[in-house]
Amino acid sequence: MPVTELNQQQIEELRSMLISSQQALEEQMLSTGSSTKPVTLDQQSVGRVSRIDAIQQQQMAIANQQQAEQLLKRIELALLRINSGEYATCLQCEEPIAFARLQAQPYASLCIGCQSASENP
Ligand SMILES: [Zn+2]
Repeated sequence: MPVTELNQQQIEELRSMLISSQQALEEQMLSTGSSTKPVTLDQQSVGRVSRIDAIQQQQMAIANQQQAEQLLKRIELALLRINSGEYATCLQCEEPIAFARLQAQPYASLCIGCQSASENP
């Protein structure tokens, strides 16, 4: 099935998806911001195990935070590309990206062919 370019309604649908995930990510980063501070636990009231627990949780929070930051950048880039009229066009082969693919991943900047080629060179 040939991939057709998106119509305005489809672009608007994806734009609102991008904006709501952008807002969700920003809220998530604000709320995890406090948990990525150095672990300062009262040694007397908590045991060693819960301190290790706290450090592990903190490391997970940092990893989540980095993932969220990366995703946020991709979302911002996608919104910029909507504004400049380049959205839904593959950055590599310049073919249109399928709407179904963008519904699953509205920040995708490569078509499915180029994406799998970049993952399995
Ligand atoms: Zn492509």
